[in-house]
Amino acid sequence: MTLEGTNAYVYGADPCVVIDPGSEDPGHLDAIRAAAAERGGIGVVLLTHSHGDHTAGADQLGAEVVQPGDGEEHGGLRTIATPGHAADHVTFLSPEGVCFSGDLVLGLGSTIVPPGGGSLAAFMSSLRLLQGEEIDLIAPGHGPWITEPEAKLAEYVEHRELRERRLLAALEAGERSRAALLTTVWDDVPVELLPMAAMAMEAHLEKLGEEERLPGDLYE
Ligand SMILES: [Zn+2]
Repeated sequence: MTLEGTNAYVYGADPCVVIDPGSEDPGHLDAIRAAAAERGGIGVVLLTHSHGDHTAGADQLGAEVVQPGDGEEHGGLRTIATPGHAADHVTFLSPEGVCFSGDLVLGLGSTIVPPGGGSLAAFMSSLRLLQGEEIDLIAPGHGPWITEPEAKLAEYVEHRELRERRLLAALEAGERSRAALLTTVWDDVPVELLPMAAMAMEAHLEKLGEEERLPGDLYE
Protein backbone atom coordinates (compact mmCIF):
# COMPACT_ATOMS: atom_id res chain seq x y z
CA MET A 1 0.00 0.00 0.00
CA THR A 2 1.29 3.45 -0.82
CA LEU A 3 0.45 6.20 1.65
CA GLU A 4 2.20 9.37 0.25
CA GLY A 5 4.72 7.25 -1.73
CA THR A 6 7.41 4.86 -0.63
CA ASN A 7 10.45 5.99 1.35
CA ALA A 8 13.78 5.24 -0.30
CA TYR A 9 16.85 5.32 1.94
CA VAL A 10 20.53 5.91 1.22
CA TYR A 11 22.73 4.48 3.99
CA GLY A 12 26.48 4.57 4.66
CA ALA A 13 29.24 5.71 2.33
CA ASP A 14 32.11 4.61 0.06
CA PRO A 15 30.06 2.98 -1.28
CA CYS A 16 26.57 3.50 0.10
CA VAL A 17 23.55 1.20 0.18
CA VAL A 18 20.19 2.13 -1.33
CA ILE A 19 17.17 0.57 0.37
CA ASP A 20 13.83 0.19 -1.45
CA PRO A 21 14.31 2.69 -4.29
CA GLY A 22 10.58 2.55 -4.99
CA SER A 23 9.17 4.66 -7.78
CA GLU A 24 10.48 4.67 -11.35
CA ASP A 25 9.91 8.43 -11.54
CA PRO A 26 13.05 9.87 -13.23
CA GLY A 27 13.25 12.83 -10.83
CA HIS A 28 13.07 10.48 -7.84
CA LEU A 29 15.79 8.21 -9.25
CA ASP A 30 17.99 11.23 -10.09
CA ALA A 31 17.66 12.40 -6.48
CA ILE A 32 18.79 8.97 -5.27
CA ARG A 33 21.72 8.98 -7.72
CA ALA A 34 22.77 12.46 -6.57
CA ALA A 35 22.59 11.52 -2.87
CA ALA A 36 24.53 8.33 -3.59
CA ALA A 37 27.19 10.14 -5.65
CA GLU A 38 27.98 12.32 -2.62
CA ARG A 39 28.52 9.10 -0.67
CA GLY A 40 30.94 7.41 -3.04
CA GLY A 41 28.40 5.72 -5.29
CA ILE A 42 26.04 2.79 -4.83
CA GLY A 43 27.53 -0.49 -3.64
CA VAL A 44 24.29 -2.44 -3.62
CA VAL A 45 20.52 -1.89 -3.80
CA LEU A 46 18.69 -3.76 -1.04
CA LEU A 47 14.99 -4.67 -1.11
CA THR A 48 12.82 -5.37 1.93
CA HIS A 49 10.27 -7.31 -0.15
CA SER A 50 9.07 -7.83 -3.68
CA HIS A 51 6.05 -5.47 -3.79
CA GLY A 52 6.28 -3.15 -6.80
CA ASP A 53 6.01 0.11 -4.86
CA HIS A 54 9.35 -0.76 -3.18
CA THR A 55 11.20 -2.31 -6.11
CA ALA A 56 10.13 -0.46 -9.27
CA GLY A 57 13.20 1.71 -9.85
CA ALA A 58 15.75 -0.81 -8.53
CA ASP A 59 17.11 -2.02 -11.86
CA GLN A 60 17.73 1.49 -13.11
CA LEU A 61 20.34 2.48 -10.54
CA GLY A 62 23.24 0.64 -12.18
CA ALA A 63 24.12 -1.46 -9.15
CA GLU A 64 23.50 -5.01 -8.04
CA VAL A 65 19.99 -5.53 -6.63
CA VAL A 66 19.74 -7.95 -3.72
CA GLN A 67 16.96 -9.21 -1.52
CA PRO A 68 19.08 -10.86 1.16
CA GLY A 69 18.27 -13.84 3.31
CA ASP A 70 18.21 -13.94 7.12
CA GLY A 71 21.55 -13.05 8.74
CA GLU A 72 23.24 -11.79 5.58
CA GLU A 73 25.21 -8.56 5.90
CA HIS A 74 25.47 -5.91 3.18
CA GLY A 75 27.16 -2.55 3.58
CA GLY A 76 27.14 -2.87 7.36
CA LEU A 77 23.44 -3.72 7.55
CA ARG A 78 22.30 -7.00 9.08
CA THR A 79 19.33 -8.71 7.47
CA ILE A 80 16.54 -10.09 9.67
CA ALA A 81 13.86 -12.26 8.05
CA THR A 82 10.50 -10.72 9.01
CA PRO A 83 7.76 -12.45 6.99
CA GLY A 84 4.10 -11.55 7.47
CA HIS A 85 3.19 -8.58 5.28
CA ALA A 86 4.85 -10.58 2.50
CA ALA A 87 6.40 -14.04 2.66
CA ASP A 88 9.75 -12.70 1.44
CA HIS A 89 9.86 -9.66 3.74
CA VAL A 90 13.13 -8.77 5.51
CA THR A 91 14.26 -5.78 7.56
CA PHE A 92 17.74 -4.28 7.86
CA LEU A 93 19.41 -3.29 11.12
CA SER A 94 22.36 -0.91 11.31
CA PRO A 95 25.03 -1.02 14.05
CA GLU A 96 23.70 2.39 15.22
CA GLY A 97 20.32 0.82 15.97
CA VAL A 98 18.40 2.03 12.93
CA CYS A 99 15.89 -0.49 11.64
CA PHE A 100 14.79 -0.16 8.02
CA SER A 101 11.43 -1.84 8.43
CA GLY A 102 9.90 -1.84 4.94
CA ASP A 103 6.19 -2.54 5.38
CA LEU A 104 6.48 -4.50 8.63
CA VAL A 105 5.93 -1.33 10.66
CA LEU A 106 4.69 1.94 9.14
CA GLY A 107 5.11 5.54 10.24
CA LEU A 108 1.46 6.23 9.42
CA GLY A 109 -1.64 4.10 9.76
CA SER A 110 -1.28 0.37 10.13
CA THR A 111 0.34 -2.38 8.10
CA ILE A 112 -1.92 -4.76 6.25
CA VAL A 113 -1.33 -8.47 5.97
CA PRO A 114 -2.70 -9.00 2.48
CA PRO A 115 -4.50 -12.22 1.55
CA GLY A 116 -2.37 -14.52 -0.58
CA GLY A 117 1.26 -14.10 0.45
CA GLY A 118 0.71 -12.53 3.84
CA SER A 119 0.45 -14.37 7.16
CA LEU A 120 -0.68 -12.81 10.42
CA ALA A 121 0.95 -15.56 12.49
CA ALA A 122 4.29 -14.85 10.78
CA PHE A 123 3.70 -11.10 11.10
CA MET A 124 3.22 -11.37 14.88
CA SER A 125 6.36 -13.51 15.22
CA SER A 126 8.32 -10.95 13.21
CA LEU A 127 7.18 -8.09 15.47
CA ARG A 128 8.21 -10.08 18.55
CA LEU A 129 11.56 -10.84 16.95
CA LEU A 130 12.22 -7.10 16.50
CA GLN A 131 11.16 -6.47 20.10
CA GLY A 132 14.21 -8.51 21.08
CA GLU A 133 16.64 -6.31 19.10
CA GLU A 134 18.32 -3.05 20.18
CA ILE A 135 16.49 -0.53 18.01
CA ASP A 136 16.63 3.23 18.54
CA LEU A 137 14.90 4.37 15.37
CA ILE A 138 12.62 2.74 12.84
CA ALA A 139 12.86 4.04 9.28
CA PRO A 140 9.68 2.67 7.69
CA GLY A 141 8.75 2.10 4.05
CA HIS A 142 5.90 4.60 4.35
CA GLY A 143 5.36 7.59 6.63
CA PRO A 144 7.68 9.42 9.02
CA TRP A 145 10.47 7.93 11.15
CA ILE A 146 9.42 6.21 14.35
CA THR A 147 11.44 7.62 17.22
CA GLU A 148 9.91 5.40 19.89
CA PRO A 149 10.34 1.95 18.40
CA GLU A 150 9.59 0.02 21.58
CA ALA A 151 6.24 1.75 22.06
CA LYS A 152 5.33 1.36 18.38
CA LEU A 153 6.18 -2.35 18.29
CA ALA A 154 4.20 -2.92 21.50
CA GLU A 155 1.26 -0.99 20.02
CA TYR A 156 1.33 -3.15 16.87
CA VAL A 157 1.41 -6.38 18.88
CA GLU A 158 -1.23 -5.29 21.41
CA HIS A 159 -3.58 -3.93 18.75
CA ARG A 160 -3.69 -7.27 16.98
CA GLU A 161 -3.89 -9.29 20.19
CA LEU A 162 -6.87 -7.19 21.25
CA ARG A 163 -8.66 -7.85 17.94
CA GLU A 164 -7.91 -11.55 18.27
CA ARG A 165 -9.32 -11.66 21.80
CA ARG A 166 -12.48 -9.85 20.71
CA LEU A 167 -12.86 -12.08 17.65
CA LEU A 168 -12.46 -15.21 19.77
CA ALA A 169 -14.97 -13.89 22.29
CA ALA A 170 -17.55 -13.29 19.54
CA LEU A 171 -16.91 -16.76 18.08
CA GLU A 172 -17.18 -18.35 21.50
CA ALA A 173 -20.47 -16.51 22.01
CA GLY A 174 -21.73 -18.41 18.96
CA GLU A 175 -21.44 -15.82 16.20
CA ARG A 176 -20.72 -17.47 12.82
CA SER A 177 -21.62 -14.69 10.38
CA ARG A 178 -18.59 -12.93 8.85
CA ALA A 179 -20.60 -9.72 8.41
CA ALA A 180 -21.67 -9.74 12.06
CA LEU A 181 -18.17 -10.60 13.29
CA LEU A 182 -16.78 -7.69 11.30
CA THR A 183 -19.19 -5.10 12.67
CA THR A 184 -18.86 -6.48 16.21
CA VAL A 185 -15.09 -6.76 16.43
CA TRP A 186 -14.17 -3.82 14.17
CA ASP A 187 -16.93 -1.58 15.57
CA ASP A 188 -14.58 1.41 15.83
CA VAL A 189 -13.71 1.43 12.12
CA PRO A 190 -15.33 4.03 9.83
CA VAL A 191 -17.53 2.58 7.08
CA GLU A 192 -15.10 3.51 4.28
CA LEU A 193 -12.37 1.45 5.95
CA LEU A 194 -14.49 -1.66 6.44
CA PRO A 195 -13.09 -3.36 3.30
CA MET A 196 -9.61 -3.05 4.86
CA ALA A 197 -10.98 -4.36 8.16
CA ALA A 198 -12.54 -7.30 6.30
CA MET A 199 -9.07 -8.17 4.97
CA ALA A 200 -7.64 -7.91 8.46
CA MET A 201 -10.39 -10.19 9.73
CA GLU A 202 -9.61 -12.79 7.07
CA ALA A 203 -5.96 -12.71 8.17
CA HIS A 204 -7.06 -13.26 11.77
CA LEU A 205 -9.41 -16.09 10.79
CA GLU A 206 -6.67 -17.74 8.76
CA LYS A 207 -4.30 -17.54 11.75
CA LEU A 208 -6.92 -19.00 14.11
CA GLY A 209 -7.62 -21.72 11.55
CA GLU A 210 -3.93 -22.63 11.30
CA GLU A 211 -3.81 -22.80 15.08
CA GLU A 212 -6.98 -24.94 15.13
CA ARG A 213 -8.74 -22.37 17.28
CA LEU A 214 -11.75 -21.77 14.99
CA PRO A 215 -14.80 -23.24 16.71
CA GLY A 216 -16.74 -24.03 13.50
CA ASP A 217 -17.57 -23.06 9.93
CA LEU A 218 -18.47 -19.47 9.13
CA TYR A 219 -20.94 -18.09 6.62
CA GLU A 220 -21.09 -14.71 4.90
ZN1 LIG B 1 4.39 -4.08 0.60
